[in-house]
Amino acid sequence: MRTVTGPTERVVVVGAGLGGLACALHLAAAGRQVTVVEREPVPGGRNGKLSVDGYDFDTGPTVLTMPELIAEPLEAVGENLSDWLELTPLDPAYRAYYPDGSTLDVRTDTVRMAAEIARVCGAREADGYLRFVDFARQLWKLERDHFIDRNLDTPLDLMNLNLLKLLGMGGFRRLQPKINQYFRDPRTQRIFSFQAMYAGLAPQDALAIYAVIAYLDSVAGVYFPKGGMHAVPRALAGAAEKHGVTFRYETTVTDVETANGRATAVITADGERIPADVVVLNPDLPIAKRDLLPPARERRLKYSPSCVVLHIGSRQGYTKTAHHNIHFGSKWQGTFDEIISQGRLMSDPSLLVTNPTHTDPSLAPAGRHSYYVLAPTPNLVAGPMDWRGGLGDRYAASLIRTLEQRGYIGFGDGIEVQRVITPADWEDQGMAAGTPFAAAHTFAQTGPFRPANLHPGLENVVFTGSGTQPGVGVPMVLISGKLAAARVTS
Ligand SMILES: Cc1cc2nc3c(=O)[nH]c(=O)nc-3n(C[C@H](O)[C@H](O)[C@H](O)COP(=O)(O)OP(=O)(O)OC[C@H]3O[C@@H](n4cnc5c(N)ncnc54)[C@H](O)[C@@H]3O)c2cc1C
Repeated sequence: MRTVTGPTERVVVVGAGLGGLACALHLAAAGRQVTVVEREPVPGGRNGKLSVDGYDFDTGPTVLTMPELIAEPLEAVGENLSDWLELTPLDPAYRAYYPDGSTLDVRTDTVRMAAEIARVCGAREADGYLRFVDFARQLWKLERDHFIDRNLDTPLDLMNLNLLKLLGMGGFRRLQPKINQYFRDPRTQRIFSFQAMYAGLAPQDALAIYAVIAYLDSVAGVYFPKGGMHAVPRALAGAAEKHGVTFRYETTVTDVETANGRATAVITADGERIPADVVVLNPDLPIAKRDLLPPARERRLKYSPSCVVLHIGSRQGYTKTAHHNIHFGSKWQGTFDEIISQGRLMSDPSLLVTNPTHTDPSLAPAGRHSYYVLAPTPNLVAGPMDWRGGLGDRYAASLIRTLEQRGYIGFGDGIEVQRVITPADWEDQGMAAGTPFAAAHTFAQTGPFRPANLHPGLENVVFTGSGTQPGVGVPMVLISGKLAAARVTS
């Protein structure tokens, strides 16, 4: 494995996103002197918090899987997850709503889930589910140990028996046909393949290796931390501070100072110079390269779709909703085509509605409810839309009407607080192509083909976060922090 060269005692980590925090903890565990420099007043980055009139909204991830990956950086410094976070397993993990009016509860317990599938789709479909679970579990084990949780320097690093196993399992075929080998009913086909969107692709285009995402949330389980998702970065930052990591909040890095092919310091917006033996960069990778490092030729990346998020504080509660609710429109392939290929808004939206107060009422004033509505949209490259010219509010109004038609009676009337976050906001926060989901996980942007975490020219600059390996989402980004630290400490 390639590593940084030269001294590694003083490490400056730019950004306290989950990638930067996990990296800082692993570095502190290995005895490095770590300073985290963060633009915002709080840690978390995309995993942020918005407080309005007594409502606490999580601004980013809502579906928390694989808590053992949060435990890992904590254990590195001798801390226990349970001392820092109170996690509730969500049951159901999701509730899916289909255009024909049927619903399906996704349950983590495979026996109960098989019963639920048998209830909704029949016994043969339940058998298919059990075969799928076996397949996906094997796939996850194989991928995690040999392809995801490893620093890969060249594609040659993949050339081993496990690659043949992955090929043999059909991992490099397309996801949707693979899912359809196990499921016949369009409803189960959707609930076990829509996760390709998390990887930035339509299920018809994503590789079957991404069936592991469906495995992680529908089989391995979905959790919710007391106090909301933002409790995760707060816990990691708290433990890092306890173990000697210095945090410099409200400090924006404007430049990485370099000399003779090495980074020597970071420069802040106030003109302060913070010397470093190693610099770890957690901002969105293409933006970090563009704004903080010396100019270099960069490859063109294909970006994931983006999203609009509505944060709604409401007087209106619903007894039939779960914590996570997925409302499928009747279109399927057409919806992906609209967002990804045509650069248009969904004409028949599929939406994720999260209702955090369902699990933790303390996130809203007494008797009130909070909703987080996520609508996938084109990114600003695929569909440069006029988000700054009022489109966000118009689109929010149309999503509220859609939800009213899909059973959220009086949704609009119940609203007392509303915030709309659009791709223009993601762009303003420093995310390339106005998407918070980074480069898509196409074959050419996966594994050793994804932008590397070791800078190709500067010997002591390392990247962490969703733009580099292994990829997007809380679990992958936490792993990316560990992989970045290994480039420094190995
Ligand atoms: C709306 C939304 C929904 C999501 N849903 C899920 C989900 O349900 N499940 C899931 O697993 N994942 C989800 N994700 C993805 C997940 O949140 C991200 O992949 C992950 O949080 C990214 O972490 P990161 O460390 O790469 O980057 P970031 O969180 O972006 O961290 C980068 C940090 O660097 C700081 N920074 C940037 N520039 C500078 C600078 N110049 N100087 C100093 N500091 C700087 C930023 O303020 C930030 O704190 C979602 C994301 C969003 C936005």
